[in-house]
Amino acid sequence: MYRFAIYGKGGIGKSTTCASLSCAFAEMGYKVLQVGCDPKADSTLYLHGGERISSILEVLKKKKDDAELEDLVHGGYKGIYCAECGGPTPGLGCAGRGIGAAFEALEERSAFDILEPDIVLYDVLGDVVCGGFAMPIREGYADQVYIVTSGENMSIYAAANIAIAVENFRERGYASLGGVILNRRNVPDEREKVETLCRDIHTEIAADLPRDDRVSRAETEKKPVLEAYPDSDYAAAIRELAEHMIRKGVDHHE
Ligand code: ADP
Ligand code: SF4
Ligand code: MG
Repeated sequence: MYRFAIYGKGGIGKSTTCASLSCAFAEMGYKVLQVGCDPKADSTLYLHGGERISSILEVLKKKKDDAELEDLVHGGYKGIYCAECGGPTPGLGCAGRGIGAAFEALEERSAFDILEPDIVLYDVLGDVVCGGFAMPIREGYADQVYIVTSGENMSIYAAANIAIAVENFRERGYASLGGVILNRRNVPDEREKVETLCRDIHTEIAADLPRDDRVSRAETEKKPVLEAYPDSDYAAAIRELAEHMIRKGVDHHE
């Protein structure tokens, strides 16, 4: 089992990258579980024809202990297992603690033993790298972290913070940094800026994803990009990234 956490600033393209990777891994024949850990709960939206699945926190609130695994994890495009942790009522509660509660709910229902995924992808917001949002790094859930960034300053700043959090926990034997995923916004000197970041945080660019109108066109069609535009340069770059992640990945056995 390969377990990856994909972090990055809000709006940078984490969910698009995650869902596209899930499709690429599914094409390679792997059984995939994608867990959305952004309170926006839209990580798996286009793996589900643009329809929102109920979040784990919503289901737990309604059904409490009666919630079953099938209520928390939903099959999507190409059989990809989809789960959304969800978030607190705006203005109330702690999003990070919610992620913890959602993870516990999956474990209590033996999700990993029953579903037996080959690949687990956590899609995590990295604007705030507090104890809560560091959950997937900290508690031995993910083995490797990939950070999505463009060349824009705010996203590079967030990426550097995420790398510090990973480094802090790595010393205790938790997840390590797999690399940086450049998702282009086409700002000047974009690759050079991200290369500088990589030098600073001692990692490499794992993929260079083109900015591509077909990504938003696929959203309008309510489809994953790899389904709507399988022959696009974007899809090719994602498939290459998926292969790279497997090559660099840590095969994790309980
Ligand atoms: P996040 O999950 O980080 O908040 P999303 O994946 O939801 O970000 O992406 C935010 C927006 O950016 C979406 O509307 C998506 O279509 C667009 N987007 C992401 N990556 C690309 C890309 N490579 N080319 C064009 N548009 C993109
Ligand atoms: Fe919770 Fe983190 Fe938000 Fe603090 S910053 S309330 S720990 S999610
Ligand atoms: Mg998202």
